[in-house]
Parts: sequence; structure tokens; C-alpha cells
Amino acid sequence: MSKRDYYEVLGVTKTASLDEIKKSFRSQARKLHPDNKDSGDEKAFKELAEAYEALSDPQKRELYDKYGHEGLNASGASSGFDNFNFQDLAGFGFEDIIEAFLGGNFRQGFGRRGGPEQGSHLKYNLEIEFLEAIFGTTKKINIDRLEDCPKCEGTGASPGTKPIPCATCNGVGQVQQVVNSWFGQSIQIIACPKCNGNGSIIEKPCPECKGTTLIKTKKEFEVNVPPGVQSGFKLRLTAGGNKGRKGGPYGDLYILLHVKEHELFNRDGDTIHIEQNIGFSMAALGGEMLVPTIEGDAKINIPAGIQSGTVIVLKDKGAIKLSNTQKRGDQLVHIIVKTPEKLSAEEKKLFEQLAILRKENLNLSDKDRDMVKSNSKKKNNNIQHPDNSKEESSFFEKIVDVFKHKSDE
Ligand SMILES: [Zn+2]
Ligand SMILES: [Zn+2]
Repeated sequence: MSKRDYYEVLGVTKTASLDEIKKSFRSQARKLHPDNKDSGDEKAFKELAEAYEALSDPQKRELYDKYGHEGLNASGASSGFDNFNFQDLAGFGFEDIIEAFLGGNFRQGFGRRGGPEQGSHLKYNLEIEFLEAIFGTTKKINIDRLEDCPKCEGTGASPGTKPIPCATCNGVGQVQQVVNSWFGQSIQIIACPKCNGNGSIIEKPCPECKGTTLIKTKKEFEVNVPPGVQSGFKLRLTAGGNKGRKGGPYGDLYILLHVKEHELFNRDGDTIHIEQNIGFSMAALGGEMLVPTIEGDAKINIPAGIQSGTVIVLKDKGAIKLSNTQKRGDQLVHIIVKTPEKLSAEEKKLFEQLAILRKENLNLSDKDRDMVKSNSKKKNNNIQHPDNSKEESSFFEKIVDVFKHKSDE
């Protein structure tokens, strides 16, 4: 892909003055900066930054005017911003970044080392009740996070003393280093080894934070859990994490939700399932009953002749939808017809009468029994009698059985 002309990118003429170039860069950079929510465009911003870097430097501009992009590439003067990571600049307003460009010290490690850094993010596991996840809740949580040390007010120096500027780097935090490369000698900027890029040296560290400027502090937060959340959902509390060093902003706090199970309700998205047992009589005769919902009991009608496994739908009695809190899922009632396990003498009598009325034979007649006997004698090899099959059919007989079945087909 061919690169766009730098003058075109900046929207200036070939004879533009440095002031005109700066002015044009400033107005376009504001528009294109990735932090600009309306018109930010990281790719276009990088292109703009590269063009500005080349044309704002008289030597580079001369090379570019004479030989174009090739001239800059060959001299190693342009490395582009393709691999530039804007995350490294977290904590800086984009006005700061633009001003750093205009001041010509962008590449010189602006904000990368030694400057304020955003604090790290923190994670917190929050367990909530089943119904809290459905209706939402407010929880107070306590976390340990790093904050500016109150003793030294975040300077890291013992109270009454101050960090002194580093003599090696003159307080800049960076030093120049001459490196020999294919293009000849070039100057590279590295973090100052004396002060580790801090730009200052603490002679007497603060006894509280040991010079780290930060100290572990308990902090209480009130967390608003919105309705409709589920296990595994993450809530982000902006600036709830650790404080950044040297006045850098706080990181964020991520709250990972764990929803406890409920003894009656089972949730699948915004659908709630329950199992409801009913007796034989209810199943046969039908009727009305109350079933639990997340908002108390609700009446359902059981139709006469219902089968076990039938599902009755309670419209809009399910969980609140996270995407639209005005809408609700459904509750599904899974009907289970329970066979009575113990019968009183009177119940037994009634069931026996019922069996007679419904012509349900509970026992085989003598004639049926005879038939079973003669069948088992005739087809002894084919019918596995539940009572004696284990003793009678040897391993060999079973193999014979299989062959017989195959030839029968
Ligand atoms: Zn301190
Ligand atoms: Zn230094």
C-alpha cells in the first residue's frame, strides 16, 4: 500500500511554514485523537503523527522534499507510528499528548518511563443471592488497594525532605545513547540508569511506604448490581483499582459475580424453571394449585388427564431481561405426576376398586399363566425368563441365541 503524501495528510501546501504545519496538526489531531469519542480514528491519527513528525523537523522535511518517503526510510529517520500503542499513554489527556508532539519531545519517551502511570486493575469476587441477581441489589464491599501514601503525600520522600532532581539526566528521566547501526551512528534515548527513569532520586525514603509512594489502604465501595445479571458477569468500577505512581490515575476495579443456586428455581437466561409434583387424583381430575414464582405464589390450572413431563408456561413470570428491564422472561412449570409410595388400607381399597372400574387387571389369569408356561417350554432358547434365565443360559447358549436371531431375520 502506498503511503499518502505527508503534505496532503496535514492539509498544508509544500511551502507551508512550520507555524502553519503546527496549526494544522493541532486542529486535526484534536479531531482524530483516539480519545475523541465523536471523530477519533487511531489509524488516521498515527498517519497524521507520522506526517507531522517528518515535516516539523527541518532535516527530515528536506529529505522528504528531495526523495519522498523513500528518502526518510533509507535514512532511518522515520519509523512510523504503526506499532505505537496508545495504551502506553493512559492517564494523559489528549491535549497533553498533542502539546508533547508540538514541543517536539514526543518520541523522547513522553509518559513512557518516569512519568505518571495508571495504577493496575483489581478483581473482586462477589457472591450474591439468586433473587438479588434477578432484581438487582446494592452491596458494600471492602477491598485493599494502593493509594498515595498519606505520610509523604505520594512523593516517596521522608517527611520534611524532597526527592532531588537526578544529576545524571537533569531530572528528565532519560539519557541519550549513541548506537552504531547500519545507517551509521544514531542517537537513542533510554531510561536514565541512575534514577531508573524517575528523573529524581529519593535520598531518605519515606518510612511508611519505603519510597514507593503508595500504600495499601482499605476502601469501601457501594456496588450497584443491575437487575438481570448472571454468574460470570463482570461489573467495572472505573477508578476502583490501585492508584498510579506519581500522581497517575487509578486503575479500575472488576467485580466478578457469582450467583448462588436456589432450592426451587432454576434459571436459564431469563427463563425460570421449576419442578412441580402433583398427585394421581389431581393428574386425573385436574384442578387448581399454587406454584412458587420469584414474586410469590401464582395460581395455575391443571387440566384433567395431564401427563408427567407436561410443561405449563407462566408468561412474563421469569427473570428481568438485562437488555430491557421492562421485559420479563417466562416461568416454565415442569409437572411431575407422583406415584404414591405408601397407601393406607382405605386408599388401597379405593385403588383396587378403581382398577376394577377401569378394567385394569392387576394379576395374570390362570389361563395367561398357563400360556406363559407352555411358551417358555417351546421357545426355551428365545425367551429369557426373568426368574431363572441367569442359571439356565450358559455362556454357550447365549452365543447360540445370537446366531438364531440372525438367521431368523
Ligand atoms: Zn510515603
Ligand atoms: Zn536520572
